[in-house]
Amino acid sequence: MATYELPPLPYDYDALEPHIDSRIMELHHDAHHQGYVDGANAALDSLEEMRESGDFSDAKPVERSLSFNLSGHVNHSVFWGNMSPDGGGEPGGELADKIEEDFGSVENLKAQFTGAASSVEGSGWGMLVYENVADQLMTIQAENHNNRAIQGSRPLLVCDVWEHAFYLQYENNKGEYIDNWWEVVDWDNVAEQYDRAQQGHGV
Ligand code: MN
Repeated sequence: MATYELPPLPYDYDALEPHIDSRIMELHHDAHHQGYVDGANAALDSLEEMRESGDFSDAKPVERSLSFNLSGHVNHSVFWGNMSPDGGGEPGGELADKIEEDFGSVENLKAQFTGAASSVEGSGWGMLVYENVADQLMTIQAENHNNRAIQGSRPLLVCDVWEHAFYLQYENNKGEYIDNWWEVVDWDNVAEQYDRAQQGHGV
């Protein structure tokens, strides 16, 4: 039994059109995300084999693969839930209050997040995370899936800016993709992620 499994998309492939094309969603979920799930499970299998043989000479590439693929699985799992055909608009409730407190306004958060997402060098993500040492929301610019992460912080809202997330529809217009992506953000889901994150304990 594999440790990680591909979660089903919470809506149809074409549910986010016209903002995100059906074919992008199909390839992105069924092929790309599945690949990260398989990669994470394969890395765990390799570690088990290494324990059995006592030969840890491949520890470095296997640990690298585990970090990359498992982070890819986590990011994509959050990403699908962050979007909805009924998305867009503004956050409310406690999340809105916290955004106001930590960024000054929702507008400021969106600008800072968009700045991070749009300027990723190569493949990566813009992320809003909850950092539980200071009890503070922060933005992260992740390269690949895992580089530049803040240890122990939990992603609440993530935007995939790998070319596989937008190129079929938006070609090289990454900024246009990000602008359209905000129109499908499900703030109720982000608020749920914030609730769960707050239940974690700091160092
Ligand atoms: Mn992706």
